[in-house]
Amino acid sequence: MRKGTTGPGDDRLRVVVVGGGTAGWMTAAALAALAGQACRVELVESAEIGIVGVGEATLPHMRFFIQRLGIDEAAFMRATDATFKLGIEFRDFGEIGERYIHPFGTYGRPLGGVAFHHYFLQRHPRPGGSAIGPYSAGVTAAEQRRFALPDNEADDPATSFGYAYQFDATRFAPFLRDWAEARGVTRTEGRIVDVERERTNGDVRAVLLAGGERIEGDLFVDCSGFRALLIGEQSWEDWSHWLPCDRAVAAPTASPAGTIEPFTRAAAMPAGWRWRIPLRHRVGNGYVYASRFLDDDMAREQFLAAIEGEPLAEPRLLRFRAGRRTRSWTGNVVAIGLASGFLEPLESTSIYLVQMAITALVEHFPGRPIDALDRDGFNRSVDAEYDRIRDFLILHYHATRRSDTPFWDHVRNMETPPELAQKLALWRETAQVAQYSHGLFLEPSWVAVLLGQGVIPHGWDQRAAIPDPAALDRALETLQGAIAERVAAMPDHRVWLEGHAA
Ligand code: FAD
Repeated sequence: MRKGTTGPGDDRLRVVVVGGGTAGWMTAAALAALAGQACRVELVESAEIGIVGVGEATLPHMRFFIQRLGIDEAAFMRATDATFKLGIEFRDFGEIGERYIHPFGTYGRPLGGVAFHHYFLQRHPRPGGSAIGPYSAGVTAAEQRRFALPDNEADDPATSFGYAYQFDATRFAPFLRDWAEARGVTRTEGRIVDVERERTNGDVRAVLLAGGERIEGDLFVDCSGFRALLIGEQSWEDWSHWLPCDRAVAAPTASPAGTIEPFTRAAAMPAGWRWRIPLRHRVGNGYVYASRFLDDDMAREQFLAAIEGEPLAEPRLLRFRAGRRTRSWTGNVVAIGLASGFLEPLESTSIYLVQMAITALVEHFPGRPIDALDRDGFNRSVDAEYDRIRDFLILHYHATRRSDTPFWDHVRNMETPPELAQKLALWRETAQVAQYSHGLFLEPSWVAVLLGQGVIPHGWDQRAAIPDPAALDRALETLQGAIAERVAAMPDHRVWLEGHAA
């Protein structure tokens, strides 16, 4: 029997996952767990080529991924040297010297159907950086480097917040590999050198390896990273005019003694921004920059001058471009991960995009032959997520008051996508955030970045008008006090990690 074909009586769909990075192993593990009745999964990867090996900050959805697979959180955190993440601290984005934290979760709670920020704005009409931060338990805990599990059932802003993880990207895929292989996923080591396609419709029939092996399948999931081996170059939508950053220089540093920050930091730089992601055993650092505005040598110099401590390894240069495939699922090839598109890691969204694409694939899991409706449904879901995230990322650049470098001048003055321009106009006039019902970055996220970067609206929802300003001040103070009190009772983040996930 040829490799990749099924035995007698097994007519499940043959799924071949091409690539064994974060995207490949997440896909293989999830398909084995969630669609194992309908398919058998084979993964091909090349140790010689390796994985991109960055991607250390996640979103709260990652918790649901590991929960849905039945993976023990503490075991996952130990294996990947993970820390907790309560949000992202943005430094110097609005103006040099300003900072705010974009938390996971809401500020305060809505009253009479009106969101909290409309009440807040009555008493804080001026730009104030993080002035709304103390009304979020997540921000307050992050500021104090504390952590404990939230109680999101209680509907109490003092105890409810979201959290995610910061982990070692080189350890996550191997962890998932063990898990997936134990559940029937088969793995082939080898470099793909050719792709065999149907003459009639261009569908992939098999991939051919350097060692001469041929792996057949019904459905191919292209997780080959920036190489995009199967999905190819034919359908790329380029967004670099809106998101000009196209390179990163990255290197780890040693963990400082003492507490571990339960958040990722994004610090604006002359031609982009710099990440700092604290793990248990080291700190991940990288400078994402636009090569149109800064050459690689200068970027490296600025990066080394800015990081805290000596790099533990020679800084790596990574190249990318912002955009996505116009059809991530084409024929019998579904691209997931870097093969499907790239949005810079300013809001840690790539692994989330992998996860949502897997969910969409499971929802639209094809039969034989593949139904165009499944493909279209999948592509619509993926496209909508990419577009919304793109606009939210652009906001971080465009809503700046900085004019100290040509890069910041460019992003401040550039034309934005029409949906973002409309969203900004609505906010400026009414403090409303144009909503969508599901997906990433709902109202509290937009409020965090807009207020954090000093985009103060002219008006607010008049249904929130409180005739007695002193009463509103007292209510705000009580809420802030309740949050501060609950957070003060939480342990230090490192202490929590040592007690619960050591
Ligand atoms: P890769 O890791 O590149 O894996 C590709 C796989 O394909 C490898 O196994 C490789 O061996 C295999 N392959 C390729 N060619 C062949 C071949 N010919 N034959 C056989 N196998 C082959 N995401 C986040 O969510 N948070 C972050 O903080 C974050 N930071 C990032 C920072 C930077 C600078 C970059 C560039 C990305 C970042 N990302 C982040 C994105 C994240 O790294 C990726 O989304 C994630 O790692 C998935 O990558 P991948 O599996 O698609 O690709």
